[in-house]
Amino acid sequence: MRATLMYSAGDVRVEDVPDSTIKNPTDALVRITASCICGSDLHPFHSMTAADGPARMGHEFIGIVEEVGSAVSTLAKGDLVVSPFAISDNTCEFCRENLQTSCTHHEATFWDGIADEGAQAEAIRVPLADGTLVKLPVAPDSALMPSLLTLADVLGTGYHAAKIGGVTPGSRVTVIGDGAVGLLAVQSAKLLGAEQIVLMGRHQDRTDLGRELGATDVVAERGEEGIAEVRDLTGGHGSHVVLEAVGHMPAYEQAVGVVRPGGVISRVGVPQYADAPIGFASLFGRNVRLAGGPAPVRAYIDELMPHILSGEIEPGKVFDATTNLDGAPAGYRDMDERTSLKVLINL
Ligand SMILES: [Zn+2]
Repeated sequence: MRATLMYSAGDVRVEDVPDSTIKNPTDALVRITASCICGSDLHPFHSMTAADGPARMGHEFIGIVEEVGSAVSTLAKGDLVVSPFAISDNTCEFCRENLQTSCTHHEATFWDGIADEGAQAEAIRVPLADGTLVKLPVAPDSALMPSLLTLADVLGTGYHAAKIGGVTPGSRVTVIGDGAVGLLAVQSAKLLGAEQIVLMGRHQDRTDLGRELGATDVVAERGEEGIAEVRDLTGGHGSHVVLEAVGHMPAYEQAVGVVRPGGVISRVGVPQYADAPIGFASLFGRNVRLAGGPAPVRAYIDELMPHILSGEIEPGKVFDATTNLDGAPAGYRDMDERTSLKVLINL
């Protein structure tokens, strides 16, 4: 079978690899029909050393079950399924609290934590298949496929930011970042009833899509200038909830600058820093709370899928380019150069 491998920063190749096969009774083997490249795949694309490669890539996919292990009870050959970016048993105490990214099962991990599997490939072995995979009630050629693929990560991640940030009807929200997660955080905030949604982003084609998805205001400036503009738009005090979908320190500093006293900074951009200000001048003095983490997207698939099936939301709009598996290396370059927002890989 063919799969995408990253050898080091900037070096992505599609090559023949050993076929994925069932190893454990709780596994399913899935033939992948749709995958994509994530903004978080760009972090290793910038920094991976040759000593860490080659690594199998991809953590978002939809596919058709080809075979199930003897202990799999809820899936059968032929089922169309979507996978979250994290594997979980969906039965342990954290899974029952809807925190599947903290699943205690010894096989629970993120796709990026399994060395010999990846979603940018023709097939994949899915551990804990009953807990991890969710059946899709549509045909594999459904026009809803791009939107359903966002359930694997970016929609659930944007929604997680809004949920744990406490967005409710009437909330005033600022979203930092105009990547796919930021844009779907905008859509999620709207879905939860936010009254004002300020999108901070510099790429006009993306912020235009952000307006289409629910942003009421756009601020292109960054740093102190951007903070001042958001404060002007929010009556001088800032937003109740700030959804930070970037992960770099300047985005955190912007979040601190635009959050209202008593408000919440909710981070879903994977932090590329370990130390950040939390003292009197930043969070404590204004009773600001800090939330966020890897989204338990498994928990949100059942909640969000009906909105896609009904046509109420169309998160698949974040895909502005489509390629095949051989086009994956070019897709990485296009996303890195910001000529593509998010690349869909049809198999
Ligand atoms: Zn669990």
